[in-house]
Amino acid sequence: MGQEAGYGMRGAIYHTAPSPSHPAPAAARGAVSGDGAPGAASAETAHEPDLVVADVDLAPGPFLPGTSIELRSDHARRIAPRAALFDFDGTLSLIREGWQDVMVPMMVDALASTPVGRDEDRVALATRVREFVDRLTGKQTIYQMIQLAEEVRARGGAPLPPLEYKRRYHDLLWRRIQGRVEALRTHSASREALCVPGAHAFLTALRRRGTTLYLASGTDLQYVRDEAAALGLAEFFAVEGGGGGIYGALDEPERFSKAMVIDQIMNEIRRHGVGGEALVGFGDGYVEIQNCKDVGGLAVGVASDEARREGVDEWKRRRLIRAGADVIVPDFREHARLVAWLFGEDQGRLAPAPAESNRPAARARWEDHAV
Ligand SMILES: [Mg+2]
Repeated sequence: MGQEAGYGMRGAIYHTAPSPSHPAPAAARGAVSGDGAPGAASAETAHEPDLVVADVDLAPGPFLPGTSIELRSDHARRIAPRAALFDFDGTLSLIREGWQDVMVPMMVDALASTPVGRDEDRVALATRVREFVDRLTGKQTIYQMIQLAEEVRARGGAPLPPLEYKRRYHDLLWRRIQGRVEALRTHSASREALCVPGAHAFLTALRRRGTTLYLASGTDLQYVRDEAAALGLAEFFAVEGGGGGIYGALDEPERFSKAMVIDQIMNEIRRHGVGGEALVGFGDGYVEIQNCKDVGGLAVGVASDEARREGVDEWKRRRLIRAGADVIVPDFREHARLVAWLFGEDQGRLAPAPAESNRPAARARWEDHAV
């Protein structure tokens, strides 16, 4: 645990031991110690927020002309981003695509073996499981397992500890994805094929412009590190290379949250005399969008269709807009235009939304998911 947590006992969210030239900022130490140091974890930042659904117009557009970059709010006063925070799964990595097909059947099996659940219709159990899995998607995995334990208990069963459910889920998921990771390691699959399109080029462009890149994922830290390395993405975030670091879930959920990482980023960018307006966050889940908006940052929702690797996942898009996303992109294919826009160099007239008939129909979220 100490090695995984990185920075000794007090700096649990800091991903790696700081080098002399890159000392861990005070906020990283304070963030988990609860000792009142600047950036110390508060009840607010130690836990991940529930989805707050704003009542907003979901009609599409406007778009940057000639692109699928959808602008949801007015950014006339934005400034060049000094720091960029990325979610991992679904935002940069496609390695875990299809995880729902593993989690849902596992949970249905658990509920179907309880005293009450064994008489329940399996389809009805699956509907219930999908409801809470969907609702909690974006938070750390442990929260879905905590809910599973409660559902088991409510049906007269004796639940396993949530951490044990999480381990079992990861074992099952690994069987699905290990071929992908092996293919990357042996170069029989290209890194690009398992990344959200344009990810490498986009990160390269941001780094070239001096934006510090941070990676924070609700997936366990050890997996995030391994998978980011296999995809050739780790170097963009490595502290040794001038990146902001890689952060991920730990066994104790209160020791990591994306809000803690943002606290740390804010402490760093304030030293340059700028605030949240110099932060841009990218994610396909609501947590990072809400966290980013909470500090006045620009939130870019990545509504990636992970299975098709192109186009917008309409379920994600709606959820990201409701969470407060300022911009929606399907992926990073249009990285040059996106970078130009982020740095205020693309101020052209906005294009209206395409006609409804030209838009792909929203796909049912669960249509392909066997139980
Ligand atoms: Mg994600």
